[in-house]
Formats: sequence, structure tokens, C-alpha cells
Amino acid sequence: MGFKVAVDGPAGSGKSTIAKILGENYNLTYLDTGAMYRMIAYKSIKDKVNLDEISEVVELLEKVTIDMKDNKFFTDGVDVSQEIRTPEVTSIVSKVAAIREVRVKLVDLQREISRGKDVILDGRDIGTVVFTNADLKIFLVASPEERANRRVIDFKNKGIEEKFEDVLSEIIKRDNFDSNRKESPLKKAMDAIEIDTSFMNIEEVVRAISVLIEKKK
Ligand code: C5P
Repeated sequence: MGFKVAVDGPAGSGKSTIAKILGENYNLTYLDTGAMYRMIAYKSIKDKVNLDEISEVVELLEKVTIDMKDNKFFTDGVDVSQEIRTPEVTSIVSKVAAIREVRVKLVDLQREISRGKDVILDGRDIGTVVFTNADLKIFLVASPEERANRRVIDFKNKGIEEKFEDVLSEIIKRDNFDSNRKESPLKKAMDAIEIDTSFMNIEEVVRAISVLIEKKK
């Protein structure tokens, strides 16, 4: 079966940073499911797919290959790790992720990759859909302002200047869209443990979740 940890929460709540560290500390394979939706979004822009035409989306899903290795992301064998983080991809990824056919394909893939392994996955629907029987479910939250602030700092560290107001409005818009969609909306699983990271640093969040992992292992 394997030990499964689900980390869900809104954009910029620190899920991927935290899940990556916990994966290394506890020898769990880390799966960034947001990156998978971003890869499909990237490919749909590249191939000029009309997202309102479901047949075009299905055709894309049938031919595209997506791979992940050593925290790098590949579509059709090409490394797109940087391209999937651009504002252009970020602005359409929620629309792509709301399409049922996209979710069916990616959820299948997430389960296949995880089969029999000890894994930690971060996303929006891991605890509610992908692994409803996960050994541990975490729901990370933080105020939109704090999350936007973190994103601005992340971008700055990569040499990209982004305005706080722009990032804040993008985060609020994406959260609304993700929370109100019909297919697998962003939602805390009933049995998930919510952690508000607004006033916590990375080490504190890692420590809090480590205690929970050690109790379950
Ligand atoms: O985590 P990240 O911000 O990279 O996710 C990008 C988008 O992918 C989210 O805004 C959401 O629309 C979608 N997503 C999802 N389900 C997941 C992971 C991400 O719908 N499990």
C-alpha cells in the first residue's frame, strides 16, 4: 500500500516547499500535482488549443506525455520546469484544471505513480479525491496578503519583479475559481488537520507536520 501524506491548500500556502522538505526528511516520494496541471496548461497554450472545445482538449490529452524527474518537469521529453511557472500559464491553469477529462487523466497518473510507494503529494484535491484514505491529511492556509507577500519574495529571489497588488489579485482570483468549480473543488477534507501558517516560518511548519507524521508511521 505505502504510506501516503496529502498536503492541500490554496495558492502560495507553502505546500510545495513544505512537502519537498518532508519528502526528503522521511524518504517519501514527492509529487507536485500542481505542476502536472501546469504542464497541460503550458502545452495547451503552445498547441493553441481552444479550451472551450472539449474535443481539442481530449486530443491534446491523448497525445501529450508528461514526466517528472529530480524536481524537473517534461512535456513530450522537453524540460518545461521554468515555462510552467510563467504568469501566462498561471493565468489559465485554473481553467484547464476545471476540465473533467484533464482531472481524470492526471488523477489516474497520480495514483499510478504513487502505487505501492511511500509518497507525499501536494495539491487541491489530494485528501478529498486522490487519496481519500491517506495516512495523514494536512490543509495549509495563510492569509491572502501573506501568501502574496511570499510569492513576491520568491519571484524576487529568481530575479523577477512582480507587483504585490497584481500577485494578490491573481491569488484571490485563482482561489475563488478553484474553490467554486464543479469538479473536485479546493476544500479541506473532513479528516484533514488545518494549519494556519500566516505567522509561522518554514521550519516551524515542517516541525509541526513532522510530529504528526511520526505519530502515524
Ligand atoms: O499548486 P499550483 O499553484 O502550482 O497549482 C496550479 C493550479 O493547478 C491550481 O490553481 C489549481 O487550479 C490546479 N490544481 C488542481 N488540483 C491539484 C493541484 C493543482 O486543480 N491537485
